[in-house]
Amino acid sequence: MPDDFKSMSKPIPYGKQSITEEDIAAVVETLQSDFLTQGPKIEEFETAFANYIGSKYAVAVANGTAALHLASMAFNVSPGQKVITTPITFSASANCVRYCGAEVLFADIDPKTYTLDLNRVEDLFRKEKNISGVVPVDFAGQAVDLEELKKITDKYGAWILEDACHAPGGYFTDSKGTQQKCGNGAFASQAIFSFHPVKHIACGEGGMITTNDEKIYKRLSKLRTHGLTKDPQEMQENHGGWYMELQELGYNYRMPDMLASLGISQLKKADAGLKRRKQIAEVYDRELKNADVLTPFYKEGHAFHLYVIQSSKRKELYDYLRTKNIFTQVHYIPVHLMPYYRQFGYKRGDFPNAESYYDRCLSLPMYPALTEDEQEYVIDCIMQFK
Ligand SMILES: *Cc1c(COP(=O)(O)O)cnc(C)c1O
Repeated sequence: MPDDFKSMSKPIPYGKQSITEEDIAAVVETLQSDFLTQGPKIEEFETAFANYIGSKYAVAVANGTAALHLASMAFNVSPGQKVITTPITFSASANCVRYCGAEVLFADIDPKTYTLDLNRVEDLFRKEKNISGVVPVDFAGQAVDLEELKKITDKYGAWILEDACHAPGGYFTDSKGTQQKCGNGAFASQAIFSFHPVKHIACGEGGMITTNDEKIYKRLSKLRTHGLTKDPQEMQENHGGWYMELQELGYNYRMPDMLASLGISQLKKADAGLKRRKQIAEVYDRELKNADVLTPFYKEGHAFHLYVIQSSKRKELYDYLRTKNIFTQVHYIPVHLMPYYRQFGYKRGDFPNAESYYDRCLSLPMYPALTEDEQEYVIDCIMQFK
């Protein structure tokens, strides 16, 4: 059996973590230390991550969904408010608003970038009252132009919570020609990331909130550990060394130290991973030019979490690739069409761009460990598909 056949007989997923010997050693070292949860590795990871992203502060939490929840709480999202997001995202970007009892408004996507259409966002602000904020998603790794979005939100006194799960290391170029890194806090007062295994930096589970606002940073640190504080400056009373105060209702959303040490080790390879993702995208762009699929449009600074093509025979192509042991995926089923959101009156036809995108989209294998042979095999299979 030729060697390349063996490698193809192994399933090729759309996304996958890369774990090295150094990653393993880092976790083992922490396992042998005195701290398993929220010890010194958390602060080390937070500092390294904030440096990488270009934000002042970072708060590590249990996962990306917990990050969205706490960020919403720190913006005081509450019943009676409305928050805008995109239907083409993982449902957690919308669910965090519901956790806080507020209403989710969706705005359609731009058919070219697949991110929020800012004109539709502005339409909503004109039409609806009590919109407190917007959750833009740097979908697939394409950074949303937050400078443009902030012009709108500022007019209405609303905040921005950037869901940058797909875009650590990504950026957009602002009107002054400055590269604005996703999550750097220049326009969005909070941004969140996930360390799920398919994301750029894998911890198994894990999330991060970045911000430049000290008050928000302190509040988030408290909220992730039940709402408790031991800071004498903040406490109303002090009964002795054991004393701590529950000041508001928080959660146990801490990240374990073992996972933070994995994150620190993974972060060191983030730039190399980003470079490899770009190469993979370039090869797909070039080789699929003559295939019967639409390759993605992207701007400079794209972080290539996903490589999404569109096909008029998407289901057939998906099924065909599965028979070839290639496990592509669909990102995403529009959130407004999920039964949970349909109960609020959303239905098919509400967001035509998102829906026609959903009917055709397919995410091809995209991760740094994808070999050249594997990618060639994926491309050959797509070219052969009739
Ligand atoms: C992965 C992801 C999340 C949720 O992150 P978890 O760590 O899985 O909770 C939220 N939003 C987007 C866009 C994501 O891709």
